[in-house]
Amino acid sequence: MIDYKYYPGGKRHVATFSYDDAPPEDYKLVELFNKYGIKSTFNVIGNNLASADYGVMENDAKELYKGHEVAVHTETHPWLEKCAPTTIVSEILENRKRIEKIVGYPVRGMAYPYGTYDDNVITTAKSLGIVYSRTAGESKSFTLPCDWMKWVGTCHHKNAQQYVDTFVDTLDNLWVSRCLYIWGHSFEFPNSADRGFDFFEEQLKKLADNRDRIWFATNIEIYDYVNAQKALQVAADESFVYNPTQIDVVIAKDNEVLTVKGGETIYF
Ligand SMILES: [Zn+2]
Repeated sequence: MIDYKYYPGGKRHVATFSYDDAPPEDYKLVELFNKYGIKSTFNVIGNNLASADYGVMENDAKELYKGHEVAVHTETHPWLEKCAPTTIVSEILENRKRIEKIVGYPVRGMAYPYGTYDDNVITTAKSLGIVYSRTAGESKSFTLPCDWMKWVGTCHHKNAQQYVDTFVDTLDNLWVSRCLYIWGHSFEFPNSADRGFDFFEEQLKKLADNRDRIWFATNIEIYDYVNAQKALQVAADESFVYNPTQIDVVIAKDNEVLTVKGGETIYF
């Protein structure tokens, strides 16, 4: 039997983060993520990049977010489902263009401003090349979304402790592959309810201490990896498997864990 329970490195679990708006507090937050070798997705408001009071400076963005993912969060942060159709298009498209010029790779991820959307917003975003989008709210679970355009994270960072502890305490659970997904805004950390950067660093440390069993990935890396798994072409009698993608995929064949490299066929 072939199964797809594994992430890169043969790890069974993935942890990911998502931070919105690109406020100036992102400088401090990125420093923390980098200290522990943990990746995050940063959803950038285009207009914030132009203001030192409200955002990361445009000239700093490429270097600051290096190694992380930069994703769409629109130019002006409107309630997209309340916008005219042409505005929905320009808010997403102009944001993509602006941040792609900075980072130099195709930007395909998004977080909805305020976490809100309707069917038309989803259809428009997909037509503009967006492949996943995060909403607000908490799934309170460690599962990946059935619909990538309605991706709900596990929890907001103020509630991270209980989910990080549960996640870490059950890493040796052999039956389920899980995804811990924490989201928030770096400007919230000084608020008492959000318990500060020190509290957040404690959570990162607990995860980093278990990096031999946790894959740290950006949102788009998870999306791409899961889709590469789904693209695997398996012989009807499971005697061989072909990976038509450029992403190495880890599988198990009769409980033996192995990597099917991009473009490779493995015969059993
Ligand atoms: Zn926002």
